[in-house]
Amino acid sequence: MTTLHGFTLLRRQFIPELNTDAHLFRHVKTGAELLSLQNDDENKSFGIAFRTPPTDSTGVAHILEHIVLAGSRKYRVKEPFIELVKGSLKTFLNAMTFPDKTVYPVASQNLQDFYNLIDVYLDAVFYPLLNRHTFQQEGWHYELSDPAQPLIFKGVVFNEMKGAHSDPEDLLDDSGRRALFPDTPYGVDSGGDPRHIPDLTWEQLKDFHRRYYHPSNARIWFYGDDPAEERLRLLNAWLSAFEPLPVDSAVALQTPFAQPLHVQKPYAAGEEGKAYFTLNWALAENADPETTLGLSLLAHMLIGTPAAPLRKALIDSGLGEDTAGRGLEGDLRQMAFSTGLKGIDQANAAAVETLIFDTLRGLAAQGIDPRTVAASMNTVEFRLRERNTGGFPRGIALFFAALTTWLYDRDPLELLAFEAPLEAIKARVAGGERYFEGLIARYFLDNPHRVALLLHPDLTLQAQMAAEEQARLAAARAALSPAALEEVIADTLELHRLQETPDDPAALAAIPRLTLADLDKENKILPITPLAQQGAPLLYHDLFTNGVFYLDVGMDLRQTPQELLPFVPLFARGLLDMGTEHEDFVSLSQRIGMHTGGLGDTSLLSTHRRSRQPVTWLFLRGKAMTPKTPELLAILSDVLLAARFDNRDRFRQIVLEEKASAEASLVPAGHSVVNSRISAHFSLAGWASEQMGGISHLFFLRELLQAIESDWPGVLARLEALRALLVNRERMIFNATLDAQNWQQVQPQLQGLIDHLPARAASAAAWSPAPLPAHEGLTLPAQVNYVGKGANLYDLGYELHGSVHVVANFLRTTWLWERVRMQGGAYGGFCLFNQNSGLFSFLSYRDPNLTHTLANYDAAAAFLRQAEISEDELTKNIIGVIGQIDAYMLPDAKGWVSMQRHLLEESDAMRQEMREQVLGTTPDHIRGFADVLDEVAAHGHVVVLGPQAGLERAQTDAALPLTLTRVL
Ligand SMILES: [Zn+2]
Repeated sequence: MTTLHGFTLLRRQFIPELNTDAHLFRHVKTGAELLSLQNDDENKSFGIAFRTPPTDSTGVAHILEHIVLAGSRKYRVKEPFIELVKGSLKTFLNAMTFPDKTVYPVASQNLQDFYNLIDVYLDAVFYPLLNRHTFQQEGWHYELSDPAQPLIFKGVVFNEMKGAHSDPEDLLDDSGRRALFPDTPYGVDSGGDPRHIPDLTWEQLKDFHRRYYHPSNARIWFYGDDPAEERLRLLNAWLSAFEPLPVDSAVALQTPFAQPLHVQKPYAAGEEGKAYFTLNWALAENADPETTLGLSLLAHMLIGTPAAPLRKALIDSGLGEDTAGRGLEGDLRQMAFSTGLKGIDQANAAAVETLIFDTLRGLAAQGIDPRTVAASMNTVEFRLRERNTGGFPRGIALFFAALTTWLYDRDPLELLAFEAPLEAIKARVAGGERYFEGLIARYFLDNPHRVALLLHPDLTLQAQMAAEEQARLAAARAALSPAALEEVIADTLELHRLQETPDDPAALAAIPRLTLADLDKENKILPITPLAQQGAPLLYHDLFTNGVFYLDVGMDLRQTPQELLPFVPLFARGLLDMGTEHEDFVSLSQRIGMHTGGLGDTSLLSTHRRSRQPVTWLFLRGKAMTPKTPELLAILSDVLLAARFDNRDRFRQIVLEEKASAEASLVPAGHSVVNSRISAHFSLAGWASEQMGGISHLFFLRELLQAIESDWPGVLARLEALRALLVNRERMIFNATLDAQNWQQVQPQLQGLIDHLPARAASAAAWSPAPLPAHEGLTLPAQVNYVGKGANLYDLGYELHGSVHVVANFLRTTWLWERVRMQGGAYGGFCLFNQNSGLFSFLSYRDPNLTHTLANYDAAAAFLRQAEISEDELTKNIIGVIGQIDAYMLPDAKGWVSMQRHLLEESDAMRQEMREQVLGTTPDHIRGFADVLDEVAAHGHVVVLGPQAGLERAQTDAALPLTLTRVL
């Protein structure tokens, strides 16, 4: 067998559906495996994965993942990771801990930048410093700087996981998986349970690294248009320094259950908290491509759309507010499936279980509606061919797909090539086989390896967990001798000292980076051709889309009276999910699935920078293969002209689902909720957005549920009023993305749709928002806070200059990272600037602090004023901002962004001027921004989402004038 740069080739395969040449290599000396994919994707990706099965819930794998990126042999600075975040052109940079693996992926469009990222990552995983103080900072430690104060636990992962455990959906998924696989690594919490994290020692952490972070336990990935042989040469230089090591990291299969299990757990709830119930099944091992694809098709048929029979049966039952459960879980050695309901009465759990089984039995016996089968087959096939991973690099998505077999010593290409299994399943179905019904019988009905899981609300759990933590800390303190207590204090102070000591400039300079000369001086221009059609603006973007026609249909919300704005998201769902005069919503949904790549709604709410007027649109976004354009347009015509809103039961279901999902997003997206509330103070668009999707909207939905009962004709009249206002080609826009040759056929067809739409004169509505309280505390039963403060810089007299983006990048990666995250122990602390509206906001995520974080925001000005900004530091921050400006986009995103710029009248010349200002940023620009931040400190509005007790303490102890409102 021949070797090349220390590697032997195990197999080679061309995968036409990915237009990729794949080579699987083994490193001869260490046994490391490399999957090398060559293709023309300029968004190159690299990753290294280790099998890291945990045996307890101390979060050792997760904490190690954090610490590995905090200093290594070649890069002896506090956080090489944040230096890369700050100053590279990366299109992806992160690390993730899964229940059985830890993955370090990066991506970039720039070859030198790509190699720089790889170099820092490989040094990090193979030669991390693993300092004790970093363990304390990222994992946990006793924090005590003053003996008069109580002892507390602090640590970034500790608070990250407190946030995760405050999210009932997270707890539901985690508990389901652990109960299904109790005798495997999936039976523990790989992220770490805050109650067990303090059991972990630094020695155990170092030992975990020694055992698993070795080439003999590594799977390495390259993908894209970088030179293929260089991959081998580069890697061999790293790997050949190691001797082979026997690593026992195999993930065992769970012995199948003989009997189903019932599990019940509490979660911390507010007064209206209801129960969650899911059924969880262990399915097949992720080993046979046809079964894997078959189960994912089946999952889509059962619950993938509102019309899917199992999802519909659950919603129609009225037993709960919305479906619960993750659906198909395909990342692990064994697949699993979970579904159920949230917002149920605990007493109805058994009824939900019966309903799920009755529905599955009915489907297996009577057969799944062939139109449902056809719709799901088309939808899934469209996704496989389109490979639209949004902002996530395609290469990294494929790396994860490869790992689902590769990690368990199976062929990594098994699930990448989808053509053969897809054809096989199509042939079975075409041949009349009851294929999917057979899967239901085998994997669901006749499978006792399942868990019925009930999560019930507990009003006192929040206080109980806090009390347990206090008791544990009190006991720990009592056990400390005076000398040991002194040591804790000395250690805390030493940690603070290290955190505050700036990195050695020479060590910082060692981190490889580009120079300003490597950056493009010009912005990339997106194609756009404005074409007027019957008065309605039509924008066309000539881009290669691989035969997919992307169409966005926009309706101007500026004509909407303010009391109707909160109805807009429900109107949008009504268009797509309630049926039309010609067919019910199941049939409509099947038609969308069979002929298109999907049809959804979204809104665009922004501010025109110069006029400061709101630019507010509702969009329907659809896509189809070009030959299916007539079907896509016929569906759009039906929903715009003939949607029916008069089914009260169906509308109530939609409102309940929207309410449940708004409540479910509070903990995982608390920072966005806070930012939306702040922005409502400062612009009409921000206010409209909060009305349509923020806390105000959640309160509106709760009232609407009453109104549906007490005044249904009034509710219906408002939906009809919105249709009359919005479906008006005088106030619509059409946005098409497709290559020129296909566009020639499509354009006249689109013209037909536009001609067909009603046209009326319309004028802008007067919006006059009621003022919100200046400073707000929004309460919910969580263990952490989301702290925000913001102001509108344009109101404060600031004039836009591109350097503001460099300042924001600098603050995020220096002051806020160090103070709010490293020292404060929050999972995240950052700032955002919206150059359209002028809103500048500070935000924290999963934050144990409140007033302390606000004080850090206010002190940002003083930090900037005295900041010493080296040439190197400045360059890195400029590079980071250019990386954000040049973010990688797939063709549909290019068409969408280009349209946004058109609506906001942001010309290429203006964007080029901004780029030049970014490139020309000086240290004086950064220091000068301190005056602006002084104004934010003085005039900003504060919004905090968090537990009531802490907010009340802030009111009394810190005299913070917060108006408290209970959200959950
Ligand atoms: Zn983490």
